[in-house]
Amino acid sequence: MSKRIWFCTLAAIILLAASGVAMAQQPATTKKPRVIMLGVNGAEWDIIKPLLVRGEMPNLAWVISRGVSGKLRTVSAPNCPKIYSIFETSRPPEENGITGFKVNGETAVSSLLKAPPLWSLLSDARISVGMANVPATFPAPPVNGYVITGMLTHGKGCEDGMLCSPKLSEVQDGEAVFPKTLAREIASDVGDISIDCLRMPGDAELRGHEAETVNRWLENVSQIRKQQQKLFDYLLTKRPTDFTFFVQSCEDRVGHWLYPIQPHNAGYNPGIHSLRVDAFPNQYREFDKVLGTVLKHVDTNTTLIILSDHGIKPLREIESHEAHRDHAGNTPVIAKHDFEDGDDVPGLFVAMGPGIKRGSRVFGLQMGVYDIAPTILHLYGVPAPPQMKGHVLTEIFEDTKAIADATSSPLIKPLLHVLH
Ligand SMILES: [Zn+2]
Ligand SMILES: [Zn+2]
Repeated sequence: MSKRIWFCTLAAIILLAASGVAMAQQPATTKKPRVIMLGVNGAEWDIIKPLLVRGEMPNLAWVISRGVSGKLRTVSAPNCPKIYSIFETSRPPEENGITGFKVNGETAVSSLLKAPPLWSLLSDARISVGMANVPATFPAPPVNGYVITGMLTHGKGCEDGMLCSPKLSEVQDGEAVFPKTLAREIASDVGDISIDCLRMPGDAELRGHEAETVNRWLENVSQIRKQQQKLFDYLLTKRPTDFTFFVQSCEDRVGHWLYPIQPHNAGYNPGIHSLRVDAFPNQYREFDKVLGTVLKHVDTNTTLIILSDHGIKPLREIESHEAHRDHAGNTPVIAKHDFEDGDDVPGLFVAMGPGIKRGSRVFGLQMGVYDIAPTILHLYGVPAPPQMKGHVLTEIFEDTKAIADATSSPLIKPLLHVLH
């Protein structure tokens, strides 16, 4: 090797090493990070923990044992559009523009966002983005990848977009899929999928037909879940992206009116609540199967985040149906999450991946809904806008391991050899 070539090589190694040191704060260094985020609407630790103890959520138990887990602090009176918009922007509802299911009397739509959401920030940084069933993303915004909208999508029989499940072919008032070509692909390869989860039956529909209505409704929920699982598998197989964000919403929908409550709880009606006491826990057993499908697509370069916007707990006092008009119309709900004190219904947070601690529990509500966007941006080395309210979840990272990973890179090793 001539002196000149050697000098150039050494200079290149030093440059690479310098960038390696700078990137040592990043969990992954040699490849573009891959993140799969799986949102569960209303994941409730009170129900999930006994299932974990009984070995009935083996996939979640496996991820917890290999990652970090804990409660996710939420905000006052949490609901899906409000919290998912915080996940996306790390800005309070009154700043980001989406304050709840309705904004100024109209169903919340993605164009109301006043702060740049995660999907735009990542797309602008040439990170590919794939999203499906994420609440309040209708109409589908353009991204560097794809979007299939979720909760609050307008469609036939669901003109207000409120907590119902239009099929792809029934969508109205805007596009549910970006790019349009993907809609045709999904229709032919996956089917005419339902968006979001089923609307809950009303008071009149239930009265006198309780068992029939409950059973039929749960069967329809089960069909929607199967379609969504198939969709997630299809997208991860055929449309892999750097950042993937999928959401499940049937858990919360079932919990609101079929939470396995006892006779001493507010709202108990034996005609409904003694019928399918396993209906709500079954949603988490089914979620665990979805997680198993997602895990087939997780490799050592993938960060997997499972999170929920809030938990869900039984009502503590009799409340009028009016109190839940946004969520349930006139369904006799027996559990909710929009308690004024958000600390009463924390969400769930579980993460596993390169540079993340293994088998670690985080106590004390240190992690919050504002911290999601800054943490995702950090993983990709994309600067977070200064207006973001959250912080990078440094408590989940094993910094020493991240640095070790960086210095064990084949690009860095020769320099260490020279320096020694
Ligand atoms: Zn929710
Ligand atoms: Zn809900």
